[in-house]
Amino acid sequence: MYNLSSMKLRGLVGVIALAGCAALALPSAQATPAGATDGLPIPVPGAAAKPADSGRRSIEATSGWNASSSYNAVRYAKLYNTPYVPASGCKRPNVALNTEARVRYFETELARCLYAAWNPIVWRAGGRYNVKPTLVVHGYTTINTSCGKVTGPTSFYCSTGSGTIYIPWRQIVTYYGQDPTFAVAYATNTIAHEYGHHVQSMTSILTASWWRQQHMTGDAALAESRRRELQASCLGSAYIGANKVAYPMSGGLLTQWKYVVSHSGDMAGQPRDHGSWTNHNFWSLAGFNGDGHGTHAGSCQTWAAAATRIS
Ligand SMILES: [Zn+2]
Repeated sequence: MYNLSSMKLRGLVGVIALAGCAALALPSAQATPAGATDGLPIPVPGAAAKPADSGRRSIEATSGWNASSSYNAVRYAKLYNTPYVPASGCKRPNVALNTEARVRYFETELARCLYAAWNPIVWRAGGRYNVKPTLVVHGYTTINTSCGKVTGPTSFYCSTGSGTIYIPWRQIVTYYGQDPTFAVAYATNTIAHEYGHHVQSMTSILTASWWRQQHMTGDAALAESRRRELQASCLGSAYIGANKVAYPMSGGLLTQWKYVVSHSGDMAGQPRDHGSWTNHNFWSLAGFNGDGHGTHAGSCQTWAAAATRIS
């Protein structure tokens, strides 16, 4: 359990240490596998498969890393030795996801809860804490961001500044019209995944991984992307698992969530940058289940995993 007062006290010391090494938040876009683009294939009857992720085209300035430091950052991050993710205590926002405003409310609540749960963990990981990402719930077909132009119903994370999570609302409303419970599972999982990228960003894993990917070619570069994406899903699921009683993530919603995570990932004919459905399911459940007593980022060490687990 956390001792919040001692955390805050010691956190003040951390501010000083962090101030000198704030060369962190640089542009990079992360598409969610949970359906936005390369993710969800036909989750409910009639839903169309999505175009390829456009987020990855933005190139991030990742100066300051080298082969050794970037490997250490992704492979041996302090994040992996942090305590259980605390339950946020947040209930599922009680709104129908049938309007833009309601989707925005739902995702805003989730973002607030994700921040509350992850912030002490980011602090324990030696990362940039007390940094709330901006949430943009939008209805645009194409949106200009500091990570570049993104087209299509793509949820993604851009690490510039304090980080921004982009969630297109129309997709969620469409899903809600087809299956409300599925839509809730999808909307929950999507922002949890994107917040996983924020955790990666705050702990320098994101920039280190981008540096590595830019210095790789072929499947090695795709494998780097898969490790990053599968970890984001694992972290998102660790939050969901930590808070499963209060939410509650059980019954029909749990059934739909399990459907979402077992049907997300790379699709035939698309770049293999998010991982197979099987492995997406594996890492999502790894995060959700934790060690049986609690959930933690230590379950999400995709850079320590065998190639078959990040295929
Ligand atoms: Zn992602």
